[in-house]
Amino acid sequence: MQYSRIAVLTGAGISAESGVPVFRSEDGLWEQHRIEDVATYEGFARDPVLVHNFYNKMRQELKSREPNPAHIALTKLQEELTARGGQVTIITQNIDDLHEKAHSQHVIHMHGELNKLLCERCGARIDFDGNSSPDTVCPKCGKKAMRPDIVWFGEIPYHMEEIQQVLFACDLFLAVGTSGVVYPAAGFVSMCRHLGKPCVEFNLEPSVVGNVFNHGYYGKAGTTMPKFVDYLLEHDALPEKL
Ligand code: NAD
Repeated sequence: MQYSRIAVLTGAGISAESGVPVFRSEDGLWEQHRIEDVATYEGFARDPVLVHNFYNKMRQELKSREPNPAHIALTKLQEELTARGGQVTIITQNIDDLHEKAHSQHVIHMHGELNKLLCERCGARIDFDGNSSPDTVCPKCGKKAMRPDIVWFGEIPYHMEEIQQVLFACDLFLAVGTSGVVYPAAGFVSMCRHLGKPCVEFNLEPSVVGNVFNHGYYGKAGTTMPKFVDYLLEHDALPEKL
């Protein structure tokens, strides 16, 4: 098989058709809030109640969100290539759980997860589907020091060593629904190109780093991904267009 080890980077765009708002609106706000207020540690230190409530609302809304055909196509790719002895690893910048709801395996959440809290005192990471506040107590150490388990701007993404190994080992790199603005994820394509890996993006339009990819499929991921996956599984080759 030409393409048996595939690394897939996903961003907010893959979940847009499931009704999860993307990050970069034209007015620079995320769900009516300034990014520095809700996605930095400084914002959390300034107003923890606002930040807890921001993620509480998203966490509750997520419960009614369902994976769309793009998430489901990635699961199909993963299942079928695994059955043939290959490997598909999903590296997501998303904090939602739609890859898991689509039954994908081995999803690396580099920016954390909405359905988890992190204790700032003891480092415990707990599954959580309720509403948190500055009074939420850590079940491990008993301190009131819980924060959303989200990697904010200025913080180091999770699992970087594992991600690097996945990128080194892959023979195809796909980026789906990501703007190419947030680093280090936006730099993965340059690294893969440097290593000689074919790189393909799926977006509504070429992303900020679109010119670094070998190829791009433009349109809604819920339409392009299922066609792409079917073609790849049948031909072990990349389609000219979709
Ligand atoms: P982004 O919002 O910066 O960019 C989204 C990209 O998806 C854009 O390039 C847009 O053109 C594209 N897009 C929109 N709809 C699409 C569709 N139907 N099909 C294909 N492409 C589509 O997102 P980002 O690059 O992931 O960076 C934002 C950061 O914000 C991430 O780090 C993430 O942690 C966080 N975030 C996560 C979620 C989520 O979990 N679903 C949602 C918003 C923001």
